[in-house]
Amino acid sequence: MPIKSKSDLSTKDAKTLEKFLVAIEKDYPYFIGFPGSTDFDYSVLLPFFGYLLNNVGDPFINPLHANHSKQLEAEVVDFFADLFRAPKNDRWGYVNNGGTEGNMYALYIARQLFPEAPVIYSDAAHYSIPKTTGILRMKEYVIPSDQSGEMDYLLLGKKLKEINAKKVIIVATIGTTMTEAKDNISTIKDTLSKVGYGKTDYYIHCDAALAGAYSAFSTIKHPFDFEDGADSISISGHKFLGCPMPSGVIITKKTHRDTVVRDSLYTGSPDSTLSGSRNGHTPIMLWYAIKKLGIDGLRKRAIHSMELADYLQKQLQAINWKSWKNESAFTVVIKRPPEEIIHKWQLATYGEWSHVICMPGVTKERLDIFIEDLKGIH
Ligand SMILES: *Cc1c(COP(=O)(O)O)cnc(C)c1O
Repeated sequence: MPIKSKSDLSTKDAKTLEKFLVAIEKDYPYFIGFPGSTDFDYSVLLPFFGYLLNNVGDPFINPLHANHSKQLEAEVVDFFADLFRAPKNDRWGYVNNGGTEGNMYALYIARQLFPEAPVIYSDAAHYSIPKTTGILRMKEYVIPSDQSGEMDYLLLGKKLKEINAKKVIIVATIGTTMTEAKDNISTIKDTLSKVGYGKTDYYIHCDAALAGAYSAFSTIKHPFDFEDGADSISISGHKFLGCPMPSGVIITKKTHRDTVVRDSLYTGSPDSTLSGSRNGHTPIMLWYAIKKLGIDGLRKRAIHSMELADYLQKQLQAINWKSWKNESAFTVVIKRPPEEIIHKWQLATYGEWSHVICMPGVTKERLDIFIEDLKGIH
């Protein structure tokens, strides 16, 4: 696609952009190893890119300036608060920069509630968790995960007894990065209760960056939402929902948010988020995605991805390529292929294993070409 005319750029600089675009387009069909949906089309929103939009402050309280998209942001927050069964009279959240900011915000409010409590998470948790405990200087314990990538609850129980803390903060991962395993917060709660923790002695954050936005549609129920016992849930917007730039949503309780809110002095909106100035365009895209797809569309997309993952696994079995997957996951873990395949198909690889993620946008036809490539090296 040529760069639009009336460009302010020199011919040389315009060429640079053009070449860059061609390079992106060339590699795009091989994007099957990272969890980003690619089936979106936001071109009807292009006019909004002619405006500065800044959602500074609390999403539910307008700032003094008018160029923001908080009315749409509030709808996005409400949509996910409903999906995650957050209490109607005690819910809050905001659209942020991604799963990392959501995790950081959650641990920030958790520390505000329980200043001395250690953070406990599994060794399959995302790297943003140890990063955040480092930034917030929180004490932490890492629990081994089992072969599927799920937290080992027996070892969790042992550790809880051993550390004997008054309060604890647990991070459950809902869709680990390598195997898409989901920690079960019902089992975590049972474990806490067996060791003697009451309902007000712990905080549970669900890092659901990848799988949170579709777990609600899985045929197998994975307990991870507010009614199941979560205090906060964070998801990434550029993963399942699909968004051309990183974004995310954090949902928590209004009472939790009230522990960190500050007066913003002059913006007109209280400072209840991590970032000051916030992206005003990503809420429009997430709003558009949920309006366009609706619950039914999201469910269909999720089921399609799960079926595609089953399809891929069958094809891999047919060529005797070692693979496995967790139930209702989009992720198929495969025996590590040679470097040229890892490189061409941009496969996340860790030790002996790589993975393919059948995100919306990946097609059967693409997977068939991938299988042909694997066959070729046998
Ligand atoms: C992707 C991911 C994150 C980080 O999200 P970003 O949007 O990249 O910051 C955190 N946790 C899990 C489980 C993830 O899959």
